[in-house]
Formats: sequence, C-alpha cells, structure tokens
Amino acid sequence: MKKLLKLIGLLIIIVLAVLIVNTLRLSSKQVTANTLESIELPNDVYQNLSKAIQYPTISFSEDAIPDSTAFFGFHRFLEETFPLTHEKLSLEKISDYSLLYKWQGSDTSKKPIILMSHQDVVPVDEPTLGDWEAGPFSGKITDTHIIGRGTMDDKGTLVGLMEAVEKLLEESFVPSQTIYLAFGHDEEVGGGNGAAAIAKHLKAKGVSAAMTLDEGGFIAEDIVPGVDSPVAMVNLAEKGFASFRLIVETTGGHSSQPPRENTIGMLAQAIVDLENNQRPYKLVKPVDYQLEYMGAELPFFKKMAFANPWLFKKPILEALNAHTTTAPTIINGGVKNNVIPTVAEATINFRILPGETIESTQQHIESTISDKIKVEPVGFLTNPSPVSSIDSDAFKTLEQTIRDRFPKSIVVPGLVGGGTDARYFYDISEDVFRFYPIRIGPNSMTRFHGIDEKISKDNYKEIIEFSYHLIKKFN
Ligand SMILES: [Zn+2]
Repeated sequence: MKKLLKLIGLLIIIVLAVLIVNTLRLSSKQVTANTLESIELPNDVYQNLSKAIQYPTISFSEDAIPDSTAFFGFHRFLEETFPLTHEKLSLEKISDYSLLYKWQGSDTSKKPIILMSHQDVVPVDEPTLGDWEAGPFSGKITDTHIIGRGTMDDKGTLVGLMEAVEKLLEESFVPSQTIYLAFGHDEEVGGGNGAAAIAKHLKAKGVSAAMTLDEGGFIAEDIVPGVDSPVAMVNLAEKGFASFRLIVETTGGHSSQPPRENTIGMLAQAIVDLENNQRPYKLVKPVDYQLEYMGAELPFFKKMAFANPWLFKKPILEALNAHTTTAPTIINGGVKNNVIPTVAEATINFRILPGETIESTQQHIESTISDKIKVEPVGFLTNPSPVSSIDSDAFKTLEQTIRDRFPKSIVVPGLVGGGTDARYFYDISEDVFRFYPIRIGPNSMTRFHGIDEKISKDNYKEIIEFSYHLIKKFN
C-alpha cells in the first residue's frame, strides 16, 4: 500500500513537472515592433469611402445578374477618385465587373504580390432598416464613424487600398515587386465569376505570386478570453464548405394507419443521428499555431493548458470549433395533416476541417444514418484550402508590418470557418493570407452582414496606413 502511494505521488510529481516545463518553454512568438514613420492622411478619405458605399453593388444570388448601373457607377467613381492609380496602373475588367489592376514592379526577377478585396455587398433585410443609425446605402459620416453596408465587408478595405496606392504614387514610389490589386464582384455568392476568373486569368498568363492577401482576418478586441491585447488574426487557411440533402422516399399512406417507419420520423432520426455523432475535434495545422501563438500570451494557468494540449486540448479545440461542423439548415416534407408524405428532405451544411474532404464528409453521413435514406451533395461545394506557411518571407513581412503598425496587438496565425475569395489563389500564389486590420469586438461582430454595419474613422485610417506600409515593406 505504501509502495503504491509512493508510486502515485511520484507520478503526480512527474506530470506536474512536465506541465510546468512545457508552460515555461512556451515563450512569446511576437516579433519586436519597430517605429513607423507617420503619414498624413487628409480627412476627405472619409468622403471617398462614403461615396463608395452609395453604390448598391449587391450580390443577391448566384444566378442573379449584377446591377450594372451600380457596378459601372462604382468603377467610374474609382477612376475619378484615384486618377494617378488609373494613369500609372493597367486595368483589366474580368467577367465585365471584376477589376484587376497591375502595378508593374522594377525588378522582374521578383515574384509579384496580390492584394485582394471585393466590390459586392450583401443585401439589407427590409424589416431591419429601422435599426440602422442611417440608411445602409446613404454613406452617412458621423463624428466618429462612416455608416453603411460594405464599410466593414469589404469596401473599407478596397477603397483603403486604393487610397494607399494613390498616396504612394503621389510620392513617386515605384515598387520593385509587381503588385496586383484584384477586386472580385461576386464574393458574397461564391466568387465563381469574379475571383475564380481572375485567378484563372492570371494563371493563363503564367503569374506565380509570392503572396496573396485577402479579407478574413481581423484585429479582435475583447473576444479571446484571458487575452487583454488585441489579437491580429492572420488566417492561413479556410475550412471547406459542403451541403448534403437527405432524401427519404416511402410509399406514404393515410395518417390513420401509420407505418412503423414514417417518412418524417425517418428523416428526423437521421438529423438526430448526425447531431449526436459529430466529427471529432482535431489539433491540425494551423490550429496548432493558434495554440502556440495565443497560449504564450496568456496568464500562467491558462497558458499551462495551451502549452499542454496532450492533456487539455479538448476544451480548447471545442472553443476554437476545430472540427468539421454539422448544421441542419433546411427541412421540407408533408402537404396535409392527414397524409403521410411520400417524400421528406433536409439539407445539412458542413464546414470541413483541413485534413478532411467533401468525400469523407459524405462517407461520414452515409455511415451514420440509415441506409434507406438517399444522400446527395447540393449547391456550392469546396474542400478545405491548403494551409499557408508561417516560415516564408511573405509571412514574416506581413507579421512585422502588423506588429509595427499595431504594437499593442499580438499576431496569431489561424484558421477561418467562413469562405473567402482567397481560396481560388492557392494555385497561383505560394502563400495566401487573410488579414486586414478591421477592428472587431463583441458588439461589432454581428455587424458583418448584419444591422448597422459601420467603421470608425480611426480604424479606417489604420487600414489605409497599414496598406501603405505593407506595400512599402514588401518593396
Ligand atoms: Zn467579404
């Protein structure tokens, strides 16, 4: 008995020692911030963004034809507002509405970089109009904010990039690396005609870029529990997206004589089976980076959990949603209250973790639910993107620029659950990153695609300055 107690005591000491050593070894991954020259931005940058918001470049659905008045009006606005950019850069229109600017670099041996954004915005729900501080397409400027659909997603970034380029041209700056500005027009409906076509066009021209930068990463404030510093999330990959329709077909019948297996009951059981058999949480790349970079900044005991995923990974991975998610989104079946329907259908949406595929997701569904139910893929489907590197010069330049411009922020590479246009660019670009310094907090997160979308004046200037310094640093 004494021996056993001794053994247990020894084990506890070993475990504690491992926990503490790992915790102490997890040191900050943040690079030292340098001071940046400050730049003067005129206040009419607010006016310019306000005007951009007033073109309702809405993407309604995949098959809807873009509103040419809004899009061409927006293009004219860009030409008039950024004359130097239109004089010195070449411009190609892809699929009529997407814009591809090329700023020729002086050193053709260097690989180009691609800075992305998108012109289109999501519609505004009519019943919510009254909850906006100002009309979503009025471009109202208040003492502190510019209000409107697109200020955060994604015209703030697009027009911010244009401001930075125009300013650099005013200063007679010539990049050594060629810079492409790629602005799709249908990101909100999958990007099939916009960003995908731009990437295809660049591939046909033999373009091979060092880096592509797009939306999909932010500066998160007061969102990560335990982290007081703002977190600059640079997303290296995005999850896949796939929906599957479950179809139950039976002979139906009269509701007074219900069969043991009712159409709707079978469908309901399948949904419950899928929800009860979630895909496992996994510590895959780039989630492991997230743990290292974030963990190092946490107070001791939280840091201990992040430094020892072998023991504590479950709650952390759950908090990070690091698995393929399962979400029933549509259900249909039945016509009359005394008729057992012959068909019932449900659509389940999955966001697929890197390492898994559309195919493995379908296999998971088929092995989880009754084989009497038909399973078919539906709508837009895409596998998880590859994971970009954090060892490349491109990442290091991006990381350094973020730290220099936002020295109070910590940079954390990670994975984004939603889809972006960036996924089309892995084919023509060594690295693909998602980050622009839009600040989001617990209250502003819902403004994306939601009510009262707006950006603060200060934050908008930060986006312009960041873009300016990033282009300079790359060159
Ligand atoms: Zn967007």
